[in-house]
Amino acid sequence: WAAAAGSVQQLLLASPRSFCAGVERAIAVVEEALRRHGPPVYVRKQIVHNARVVADLRAQGAVFVDELDEVPDGALTVFSAHGVAPAVREEAADRRLPVIDATCPLVTKVHAEARRFAGRGDTVLLIGHPGHEETDGTLGEAPDRIRLVPDPAAAETVQVDDPERVSYLVQTTLAVDEAADILDTLRLRFPALVGPGSDDICYATTNRQRAITAVAARADLVLVIGSTNSSNSRRLVEVAERAGARAHLIDGVSDIDLRWLSGARTVGITAGASAPPGLVDEVVAALTALGAKEVSEHTAAVEDVVFTLPKEVRQP
Ligand code: SF4
Repeated sequence: WAAAAGSVQQLLLASPRSFCAGVERAIAVVEEALRRHGPPVYVRKQIVHNARVVADLRAQGAVFVDELDEVPDGALTVFSAHGVAPAVREEAADRRLPVIDATCPLVTKVHAEARRFAGRGDTVLLIGHPGHEETDGTLGEAPDRIRLVPDPAAAETVQVDDPERVSYLVQTTLAVDEAADILDTLRLRFPALVGPGSDDICYATTNRQRAITAVAARADLVLVIGSTNSSNSRRLVEVAERAGARAHLIDGVSDIDLRWLSGARTVGITAGASAPPGLVDEVVAALTALGAKEVSEHTAAVEDVVFTLPKEVRQP
């Protein structure tokens, strides 16, 4: 380590980084459910897309399943932060499963928009990544009316029923610049295109991308702490690369490849919204132990968002 990392002089931390309010709420839902009801608590899908978080909750008694048919009758079940399609809610209701919904309120907002747009007869263009749990959930609100637009090529070719009745939605964790490019294309093709009242890409995604853009411009190497299935973490890597830095996604210290550090004087560090702050501390400690002398922070925004817990686990 020491020889390869000898060039690292400065660590530059992006702020904000790590947990957002939606992730903190979702983790608190599972912890509080475990505290009140005892294990096991079943969680449909990963509560948030982070390996450390999932491992910690599993150790406390959470059982992660892919679908509800893996949940025994009567078992307490939590829906993950990414949201679920109405069909999943119906299945849970049919089985009378006790459910606590940890869907982030900002994802719930997108679902409400989907229902509103689709309900008035629009073709709804959802800018988002196929196969992601959030987009699957949103698509499920109106599968016949919502079309996924994953990239600029799809924006060029997607077909709508009536060009005068077209609206769009955006996955909450997309890259702001990439989504804007896709939207430009859609607006050219469909001048009547209507969007949500406020941005779908959430405050946490936006702030983390702004912070890492500034950090990447000053760094030789950027380390993004987050899991490979974390959409917002992967977007941070891409945003850092577009800002001119070499960037890598790591789950933690053990993923750092020593060759990356060679020749890097300033290492930028951030973490996706689902990655615990403790992982950042571990990476900083490891690089400091290797000789990084200065640790500073670039603050792009100060966050004070807090979401209240669902009523089932709210105090007292
Ligand atoms: Fe909610 Fe945004 Fe966090 Fe996703 S990244 S959980 S939408 S606050």
